[in-house]
Amino acid sequence: MVDSVEAQGGFLTPVNVASSLFFESPEEIFRRVHREIRPRTPLPPLAIEYKQFANADSHVRLENGTVTVRITDLLEGAPAPVTEALAHILLGKLYRRPAARQYEHRYRLYLNRRDMRRRINLVRQARGRKVHLGAQGTVHNLEEIFEDLNRKHFGGMMARPGLGWSHVRSRTRLGHFDPSHNMIMISRIFDDPRAPRLALEYVMFHEMLHLHYPVDHTGSRRCVHTPEFKAHEKQFPEFREARALLKKMW
Ligand SMILES: [Zn+2]
Repeated sequence: MVDSVEAQGGFLTPVNVASSLFFESPEEIFRRVHREIRPRTPLPPLAIEYKQFANADSHVRLENGTVTVRITDLLEGAPAPVTEALAHILLGKLYRRPAARQYEHRYRLYLNRRDMRRRINLVRQARGRKVHLGAQGTVHNLEEIFEDLNRKHFGGMMARPGLGWSHVRSRTRLGHFDPSHNMIMISRIFDDPRAPRLALEYVMFHEMLHLHYPVDHTGSRRCVHTPEFKAHEKQFPEFREARALLKKMW
């Protein structure tokens, strides 16, 4: 499935082969793409390094006339067409000229490959910092909330993941299930006597459903809320009431 899309994404056309893409080093690729994006600008010095980041991000900046590119070491040894796509994305960002869709697509497909997703998860686990408080808040205990819902909706059969309150009182990210850490994180705005418990329970239930229905990866798209997921979510007894409460909270 992914392989056929990759072929459409422009990996194996005669044009690509003719451009001697496969013999270029990352530095040469970035220089060539720089010339394509800014043909009239003299080529500045380019410094490229692969760094151990806690995620799959890469960065670019212009410093004292030098273009400094820091690429996640997850992409060290990536196929040249992927490095080329990244060069278009990063240099496009630097010069405020968004990369053509084919490059975005090619890059995303590569990161979304099963083997890459696995490596990204491992790196996150090994290098990521703990970004949550424990399960015991000042008002609510997330383990109690979880086990209560577990009994009512899953026959007590769901294995309890890590549970934690976020450091940040986020109003946009109310809850989050992180599969790489097997962890449900709940926004600290709910650890408040004024926040209705029903709203908190609903957010927890939603995240528990993410555990129950593992994410489906199809091509470069991540389908997170499947029809099954949504149907199950509506079985939450006070579904409408809880959604209305969440809207009213801010
Ligand atoms: Zn969700």
